[in-house]
Amino acid sequence: MGNRGMEELIPLVNRLQDAFSTIGQSCNLDLPQIAVVGGQSAGKSSVLENFVGRDFLPRGSGIVTRRPLVLQLINSNTEYAEFLHCKGKKFTDFDEVRQEIEAETDRVTGANKGISPVPINLRVYSPNVLNLTLIDLPGITKVPVGDQPPDIEYQIRDMIMQFICRENCLILAVTPANTDLANSDALKLAKDVDPQGLRTIGVITKLDLMDEGTDARDVLENKLLPLRRGYIGVVNRSQKDIEGKKDIKAALAAERKFFLSHPAYRHMADSMGTPYLQKALNQQLTNHIRDTLPAFRSKLQTQLLALDKEAEEYRHFRPDDPSRKTKALLQMVQQFSVDFEKRIEGSGDQVDTVELSGGAKINRIFHERFPFELVKMEFDEKELRREISYAIKNIHGIRTGLFTPDMAFEAIVKKQVVKLKGPCVKCVDMVIQELINTVRQCTAKLGTFPRLREETERIVTTHIRDRESRAKDQVLLLIEVQLAYINTNHEDFIGFANAQQRSNQMSKKSSAGNQVIRKGWLTINNISIMKGGAKEYWFVLTAESLSWFKDDEEKEKKYMLPLDNLKVRDVEKSFMSSKHIFAIFNTEQRNVYKDYRFLELACNTQDEVDSWKASLLRAGVYPEKASVSVLLYMLFLNSYRLFVSCYR
Ligand code: GDP
Ligand code: MG
Repeated sequence: MGNRGMEELIPLVNRLQDAFSTIGQSCNLDLPQIAVVGGQSAGKSSVLENFVGRDFLPRGSGIVTRRPLVLQLINSNTEYAEFLHCKGKKFTDFDEVRQEIEAETDRVTGANKGISPVPINLRVYSPNVLNLTLIDLPGITKVPVGDQPPDIEYQIRDMIMQFICRENCLILAVTPANTDLANSDALKLAKDVDPQGLRTIGVITKLDLMDEGTDARDVLENKLLPLRRGYIGVVNRSQKDIEGKKDIKAALAAERKFFLSHPAYRHMADSMGTPYLQKALNQQLTNHIRDTLPAFRSKLQTQLLALDKEAEEYRHFRPDDPSRKTKALLQMVQQFSVDFEKRIEGSGDQVDTVELSGGAKINRIFHERFPFELVKMEFDEKELRREISYAIKNIHGIRTGLFTPDMAFEAIVKKQVVKLKGPCVKCVDMVIQELINTVRQCTAKLGTFPRLREETERIVTTHIRDRESRAKDQVLLLIEVQLAYINTNHEDFIGFANAQQRSNQMSKKSSAGNQVIRKGWLTINNISIMKGGAKEYWFVLTAESLSWFKDDEEKEKKYMLPLDNLKVRDVEKSFMSSKHIFAIFNTEQRNVYKDYRFLELACNTQDEVDSWKASLLRAGVYPEKASVSVLLYMLFLNSYRLFVSCYR
């Protein structure tokens, strides 16, 4: 092993991890780690237990590992285990460790065998182990070709991906020798994120179970599917061994004997088996940490600088000096008002790149959510036609009219215009909510002075609430104004065709050419499993097209869909999936994209779906079932413009 300094590296990273968890922050510094991946029953748990020399992991059929287990092995004179979630409690009985893993798994996932990406942190101190941090992940489940995998399989893949996609993660790909290596789930998954095999380490289990006369020599000599870090073979205990309570020491001795006596492996027996694997991992993790240390160090330094800057702001507060007190109070209140204004009105400096500011969200409510709420109003077209026909007949009375009378039209339109009240009031509500959220965000800085914070929130919120009722009165008045007199003689009003044309022009003009309307992640839901299944892409919506890219760097464009003749349709949420889905299709009976009739797009929440639909509407892609309400929206827009022009 290398020099002492090197040996200290893994414990150092352990201490960093600890420091992060005690301050209640997940470590977003991306510390180097090893993730254990493989199909169900590939032997992942067996390998980990052999490292520790104890039976301590849950066993059984089905999905046993349902939360990631971050296992820190620490070389020590005494042997015990400790969980982060009950720190200080020393476990010396490893059966109890297993029970605690099971209980803690259920605590987060519920007893109904769900899975969760929230890790369990377990630390094992033992004279038998080398310093090493490994993450035991749920097994990849096999999907029969052509079948749609159930949701849990996606969740498992997603979870594994979350870990192994980090550049800083070594991938321990566990594959049983008695299956086809080329079809190894672990190697396939690893290849997705590490195509050149630079950070993947192959582990071949169950060498004892291979058919008579076959062996894995080519693989283990790294000739068949070469990985830069190569393959290591192991022999774990069989199910029978475990039931017969064969202890791990005996199993390790049997493993050693297996390699020494096997004609295909004898020549490389010293670089095979569990102890060698453990040593190699310790070495590789150490090297890996050493390699990633410079980048890691500069990341830490950046964080330190940011914290120093924050601390500097508080250096001038001297709470015991009365004049200082007043000054500090005033400063804070002033800061609050500056912050609030910045968040609403926008600002040039320190632009938030992580989330939308209150002002930007309000902009969205006005320009996307509100029109969308108008469109969303469910109209029964048949019912409306019936009403129109009755109204016309009733107004003619005993006579048979030749022309459609204005009165009938007015009666119908008025009835529809009244329906605008709901969405308008809802729009005010949404804006108010956003203002109040913004107040909360701005008062967060006053957290150290809870009473000041409370009082500031109370005063500002009361003021907003007062304005809210005035705004609602005003909006309702505006609708009353529209109802009072409908100017059918206005140029905007002549014909729906005219109105629609105009509105198309308007939306094209307002977001001319390739101006981006929206960007964000969406999952294409209906890619067949043969082609890799549902996948997340980075979508960019402009006034003319919808494009998607491999990721938000927007370098690798996958496809560009012109928006002409497209519409949006709702897709019912399947109870198997947690995703909310909508579909885009071509109104001319053509495939929308490649050989797909529909492009199914999935989001995590209904809110996200609604807001994408609103963005699409802005780009001129209308919902399928909204012809009448779209018309109404057009009427409203026109009346609104009319109203504004009268005012000028
Ligand atoms: P996991 O689902 O990947 O964690 O797999 P386990 O470690 O729980 O192993 C699944 C089953 O395969 C158990 O019954 C093990 O006893 C058995 N097993 C694992 N490795 C070997 C091996 O190298 N040889 C034999 N004969 N059985 C093994
Ligand atoms: Mg397991």
